[in-house]
Amino acid sequence: MAVVRLDALRKVYPNGYVAVADASVEIASGELLVLVGPSGCGKTTLLRMIAGLESISAGTLLIDGRVVNELPPKDRDIAMVFQNYALYPHMSVAENLGFGLRLRGMDRAAVDRRVREVAQLLELEPLLDARPGAMSGGQQQRVALGRALVRDPKVFLLDEPLSNLDARLRLHMRVEIARLHRRLGTTMIYVTHDQIEAMTLGQRIVVMDRGVIQQIDTPMNLYRRPANRFVAGFLGSPAMNFLSGTVRIDTTTELVGPHGTLALPGVAWPADWAGREVVIGVRPEDLHPVDAAGPAALSARVDVVEPVGNEVFLNLRSGEKPLVVRLPPRVVPQPGDLIHLVPDPAMLHVFDARDGARLE
Ligand code: ATP
Repeated sequence: MAVVRLDALRKVYPNGYVAVADASVEIASGELLVLVGPSGCGKTTLLRMIAGLESISAGTLLIDGRVVNELPPKDRDIAMVFQNYALYPHMSVAENLGFGLRLRGMDRAAVDRRVREVAQLLELEPLLDARPGAMSGGQQQRVALGRALVRDPKVFLLDEPLSNLDARLRLHMRVEIARLHRRLGTTMIYVTHDQIEAMTLGQRIVVMDRGVIQQIDTPMNLYRRPANRFVAGFLGSPAMNFLSGTVRIDTTTELVGPHGTLALPGVAWPADWAGREVVIGVRPEDLHPVDAAGPAALSARVDVVEPVGNEVFLNLRSGEKPLVVRLPPRVVPQPGDLIHLVPDPAMLHVFDARDGARLE
């Protein structure tokens, strides 16, 4: 078990590009931390710096209180699982699993023992003699996990380990990884661009955008109180709806914008927000249909109806503005219908229109 601490870690590539800007986070011993963000946000670079595969331009990386910036990867007691598995095609599963241990000079009997232990843990015993080319993607991924596990590393790094699998297998392996983490209690850092994977696996999640950490928190806190508009829009599927406008505070609070004037009864913003340019965010489950149009309702026309079994996503247009609503699959409007929606006042998110920061 190990505590990993990143202290203002920075990566500037030789061409001057800042891929990671001053990332700071402490990963507790035994924690499963997920790094998530869109393509190119710097998450792989950050993981590779922790592994020692990428040099650190500035800042400090500590494992159990020891600075390891200059330590070669093999001395960091870290194992990494890659997206493409990187298995040796000419070796059997058993040989793939034991390769690293043999390289380290472990004797044959001890290697065999350890390989069997890990094969049992990952239910790979029937495949020990098979070659990777003859196995499914999910099986290969399990071997890749096993190869990292045999070394019993202090820290386990996973870079998009499920992205080559089909949807069903991805779901299955996600549960396997969560179970594995619970059994082993190893410190794990898991990189993904998939927000569902991040939300379901992470004890805490680090959300990155353009090299900068945007927020670090538990999945629920990120969903309920996103620190800025980027995080609000990135987590949640379908994504949060945004409405921009100017705050007007009269007898009620109102948002005056391209959608018209929307009254927000039940919303009490500070008086000095009057005149402020804001963007309000409403999740698709927090917009509720009402029978009639009115000052507190957004009127929108149904564009596309997406039934997903236990619920329905309605894609709507309010003027030019696209909106998404999530409804139980009971009474479903049809394309072309005009419906009226009221946001739940307790579930509104408000962001500054200029820098996107959460206000309140
Ligand atoms: P993805 O999910 O697509 O893998 P990522 O979030 O993991 O993306 P990184 O691979 O860390 O992103 O890359 C971050 C940024 O750094 C990208 O804009 C990428 O183009 C840039 N980058 C990566 N490697 C180099 C390099 N060797 N030289 C210059 N720029 C690089």
